[in-house]
Amino acid sequence: NRDYIGFATLPEQVHRKSVKRGFEFTLMVVGESGLGKSTLVNSLFLGDLYKNRAVPSAADRIDKTTKIEKKTMDIEERGIRLRLSIVDTPGFGDAVNSEDSFRVCTAYIDEQFRQYFTDESGLNRRNIQDNRVHCCLYFVPPYGHSLRQMDLDLIRRLHKKVNIVLVIGKADALTTTEIRKLKESILQDLENQSIQLYQFPECDSDEDEDFKQQDRELKASIPFAVVGSNTIIEVAGKKVRGRQYPWGVVDVENPNHSDFIKLRTMLISTHMQDLKDTTQDVHYENFRAQCISQLSC
Ligand code: GDP
Ligand code: MG
Repeated sequence: NRDYIGFATLPEQVHRKSVKRGFEFTLMVVGESGLGKSTLVNSLFLGDLYKNRAVPSAADRIDKTTKIEKKTMDIEERGIRLRLSIVDTPGFGDAVNSEDSFRVCTAYIDEQFRQYFTDESGLNRRNIQDNRVHCCLYFVPPYGHSLRQMDLDLIRRLHKKVNIVLVIGKADALTTTEIRKLKESILQDLENQSIQLYQFPECDSDEDEDFKQQDRELKASIPFAVVGSNTIIEVAGKKVRGRQYPWGVVDVENPNHSDFIKLRTMLISTHMQDLKDTTQDVHYENFRAQCISQLSC
């Protein structure tokens, strides 16, 4: 048909090319020591997605994190390849050493931008590995009334570099009402301080009603209250990832117990591409503009 010149296949071409190359995604966890960061990332990805792989022993996995540690896994699902990296950070002990461990995190993010910038300016621009941090889960303790001054200070230094998604760690320490109140005051604080966390995009109006509903529920749950566990417990004949207490079991994947599944769905199946796009278009662009205007970076 000579009315068409064929560019309508462009989306498909782009798609096919990126499918062939595979996708790269890097997630970083930041926050005070002991809030369940390492446990959560292990619960989020290692257990279920990597059933057939050699999963590190439980003892390895819950060791106190003392340095920045990157774990990378190549996963393939229906012909789509994903290289998923988790950057686990040491975490802060107290206000005194928070500065040091924090500097390690920001330096890591900058270093990945710098590497990308160097590669992009080099001769072989075609096969650049994208090691940039696409999302940072910032852990807030469950026991405060809102964000602490320390958290605000740290988040403020990160929010222009990386997509920050806030999570309340160890949420099994709180009742449903306490969680709701804590979420409200955190959101209020952020608004007062004009801090920009990752902005979840508007849902397209042509999405179906189920998707829109899921999107509304997702946004209503921010900041996500999560519970992590590396223990599999049997409840009524069903094996669940949970925490056993004298009074019963917290099933981390039960949406009534925590926002764990919402967080994982968001990261893996609904917002990964948007997190990558925002990293490229906003955070990396900022970095790049700075490099160019200062003629160095
Ligand atoms: P990190 O320092 O932030 O990496 O924290 P870890 O993942 O090493 O966890 C510190 C301790 O808290 C360990 O004993 C975990 O078993 C425990 N823990 C981890 N996640 C949770 C949670 O969601 N709820 C509770 N109650 N304890 C947790
Ligand atoms: Mg840790």
